[in-house]
Amino acid sequence: MAALGGLAVGGLVATAAQRWLGAGNAAPDSPPSEFLNDASTLNPTRVRGVVFASSSPESTADALRPLLRRVAGGDDPALAVSGVRHSMGGQSLHADGWVVDAQPLKGVVVDTENSVMRVGAGTTWREVIPVLNELGLAPHVMQSNHDFTIGGSLSVNCHGLHANTAPISGTVRRLRLLTANGDIVTCGPTENSDLFRHVLGGYGLFGVVLEADLGVVPNALHERRFTTTRTEDYCDVFTEHVCAPGTDAEMAYGRLSVDPGNLLEEAVITTLSPVPGTRGTVLPLGAPSVPKLSRAIFRNSVDNEFGKKLRWWLERDVVPLTTGHISRNDLFNEPARLFANAKSSKTDILHEYFIPRVRLAEFTRAARGIIKRTGADLLNATVRDVRRDERSALAYAQQDVFGLVMLFDQDRSSTGERDMRRMTESLIEAAIAVGGSFYLPYRLHATLDQLVKAYPMWESFVETKFRHDPHGVFRNGLLDTYAQD
Ligand SMILES: Cc1cc2nc3c(=O)[nH]c(=O)nc-3n(C[C@H](O)[C@H](O)[C@H](O)COP(=O)(O)OP(=O)(O)OC[C@H]3O[C@@H](n4cnc5c(N)ncnc54)[C@H](O)[C@@H]3O)c2cc1C
Repeated sequence: MAALGGLAVGGLVATAAQRWLGAGNAAPDSPPSEFLNDASTLNPTRVRGVVFASSSPESTADALRPLLRRVAGGDDPALAVSGVRHSMGGQSLHADGWVVDAQPLKGVVVDTENSVMRVGAGTTWREVIPVLNELGLAPHVMQSNHDFTIGGSLSVNCHGLHANTAPISGTVRRLRLLTANGDIVTCGPTENSDLFRHVLGGYGLFGVVLEADLGVVPNALHERRFTTTRTEDYCDVFTEHVCAPGTDAEMAYGRLSVDPGNLLEEAVITTLSPVPGTRGTVLPLGAPSVPKLSRAIFRNSVDNEFGKKLRWWLERDVVPLTTGHISRNDLFNEPARLFANAKSSKTDILHEYFIPRVRLAEFTRAARGIIKRTGADLLNATVRDVRRDERSALAYAQQDVFGLVMLFDQDRSSTGERDMRRMTESLIEAAIAVGGSFYLPYRLHATLDQLVKAYPMWESFVETKFRHDPHGVFRNGLLDTYAQD
């Protein structure tokens, strides 16, 4: 494997929490408690402390083994693994437990001949993209923003703006995992394949992902095309533009109206097709930026009917006239903070529902009724094309689906939380009624019954977890909410 690009070791996020790292260290007797939170800002969680990974898989394993032994022996509380904690329901935290911060596991090494990169689990896409771009390459599957770590992306089994593509699990050739008993285990589609299937989308419950080999694809300049349609016809129009023989779209997504006048009733489908002659070339990579006007227009639509109407008009009628070609890497190289909430009394909460393609309109009709009835403040709604995931044990895309991503503004209060929980339960009920499921990195508002209906393999997933980790060394909010051992 040729080392063509490397990243500096380190880059730790400053945190007041305790740092404890070093081979042979025992956990201190009375470590100070600290509170950590995640992207929801609704999960202040007291933790025993933070243990940072090291720069290499081996040094991380050496450093963590004593703690793993103490946890297994009942002498220390369990630990959760975390990336940059952009999950929203405590999936990267365990109350009163340790947190293993995987971010120092950084590095990207690219094998151009085999179109694969070996990447440290703490590396973010923001760090990966420039390395690939220099080589005329790009990530195969990632989220629609670049902020997330590779470990976090694999552990939720992310997906993004790709067309005709399964989640990221489909691009993983091999990974190395630090298991509960302190071994470094290599797994892939044919090697330790049961563990492999459970780690992908396994929410850090099977060990610490140390590094992964991920497929990469040529970068290319893309022409954007826009089509406006009624949501009722979304599936047919999308199929015609993206899936029919002879179509060349490599990325595609929809945007649904958040204008209260036609909430979720209209859509703009954007398709991106490669410009001939640009595939695999080294293209300029723009600096990730936060355009002030876009942000102002977006934030102005919070709790503001006129602001939402204006935004939908701009998105439907103006953006298509003003938007030019874009490279795959530039499309992906966008920070999530672009639209982030800056008010301390409010927070923005993501939802995603995976709906069998032909039933999208049925679900959006139900969702419209629920959102109107509850008065929830829907800021954004996009549609992703997610193909059946044949790899991960806890698959959300159990067939070809559209992922309907919705962003809601919520009061940071007990009433705001109660209302959000009620609405989420109703939306999940509607998704299940059309044979769909929902995404697990967000708020854990589903009932256990709903979780099991959407993920019929949940119980066997938990059984397998405790087979690999009998002492429950790895725990987090997802397991604590839905599984008692
Ligand atoms: C603004 C925003 C936009 C988003 N857009 C998308 C999108 O387009 N598509 C999509 O699919 N998702 C999207 N997400 C969800 C996002 O992909 C997940 O929350 C992802 O896990 C974030 O990565 P992270 O590094 O913050 O992981 P964390 O939140 O820190 O961790 C998430 C899970 O992964 C586990 N984990 C993290 N690192 C490791 C490791 N090294 N080994 C083992 N387990 C580990 C944790 O235990 C936890 O269970 C979005 C989230 C936000 C907040």
